[in-house]
Amino acid sequence: MNLLNKLGLIIICTTLSCCAAFTPKNTVNKISSTALCQTEFVAIFVNFPTARANHCQINSRASFNLVIDPENKPINDSAWYGFKIVPYHSGVVNINLNYSHSKHRYPPKISYDGTTWDLLDKSNIKVISKNEIRLSIPVEKQKIFIAAQEIFSVSKHNSWINKIENNPSITKSIIGKSVQDRPIYKLETGYKLETGANQNKQYIFIVGRQHPPEVTGAMALAPFVETILSEGELALKFRTKYNLVIIPNMNPDGVIHGHWRHNMDGVDLNRDWGPFTQPETRTIENELQRFKDGDDELVLFLDFHSTWRNLFYTQTDKEPTSPANFARDWLKAADDRLGADVYKFTREQSPNSGKPTSKNYMYSTYGIPAITYEVGDNTDRKELSQAAKIFAQEMMKNLIEWDPSHD
Ligand SMILES: [Zn+2]
Repeated sequence: MNLLNKLGLIIICTTLSCCAAFTPKNTVNKISSTALCQTEFVAIFVNFPTARANHCQINSRASFNLVIDPENKPINDSAWYGFKIVPYHSGVVNINLNYSHSKHRYPPKISYDGTTWDLLDKSNIKVISKNEIRLSIPVEKQKIFIAAQEIFSVSKHNSWINKIENNPSITKSIIGKSVQDRPIYKLETGYKLETGANQNKQYIFIVGRQHPPEVTGAMALAPFVETILSEGELALKFRTKYNLVIIPNMNPDGVIHGHWRHNMDGVDLNRDWGPFTQPETRTIENELQRFKDGDDELVLFLDFHSTWRNLFYTQTDKEPTSPANFARDWLKAADDRLGADVYKFTREQSPNSGKPTSKNYMYSTYGIPAITYEVGDNTDRKELSQAAKIFAQEMMKNLIEWDPSHD
């Protein structure tokens, strides 16, 4: 068999397997070998980073059931989905999202280019049950992306990382690899300074995206870090005293595969700080070694996530930290500036439960404030960005003024 025949066979086989759910009356004129399912009216694809829809059942030429499964069970209720609609005609396509192991959580977002996103209008959504919604989407000849949140894939993380690397005080490095061998990047201030001024400076350690669907956390991390790296007086002063380590995306495989929670080994990375059984968390363990050895000193740990509403999980006031009372004073100062009408949030004093989370591990190992920065799933995107800048400014003010001898 020559190569062309072989390729032909592969394409036919792939197409047949993709089309297994077809009923004979749904004659398909436009065959795509990569569609999850299709009729002569429309094709549905999950062949792009972050996509998730596990099975497709065709009800009629313009009506489909998409089953949304998690990557693993048991798992948190973070039912991520993402798919692309390619219409062959104009009309309305009806898509039922059926959740096999969760309730519907994320209001659908729509995009025509994969970059600019809007909330899908409520008039296009019908709630059938807590496990099922129906989307009625007008289509013309343009492709349409539908996803649980705006798509914030590894490529978006990496282009931001490359942009930040242009900052003269930043060094980018690969500090480890994921299960599927994707790089885990670190950005760090200090090393490019000719004076070696990083010496004797304490470090703020920032991580993000342990949990793939938590896009609003990733959206807040960027302006938070950019504020600290800016050329304003406050930031310049801050960086004469402190360095930063930033690991923006701890779970690149999970992000690419549209996971609800876990890495490719089916492990919740934020339950693996301490055991460090996974390549992603071992990367962090290695990075922390110099702080354990006493070569460098940590002053604050922040871990960016998303949940139902804006909040910060902190140590309780009874758990001593150094700097003392940082979380209380920092969040009070930010709250005084933000007000509930701009960005409503709460501080949740969350005692060390013994679970191997980043917060518990970093507090019990280093005695520093270790804080989970949670952004609401549905928080206004401009507001979360404005708030992140204010949280960064107030963090800098607090730490510039901190005098360890007063603790
Ligand atoms: Zn999370």
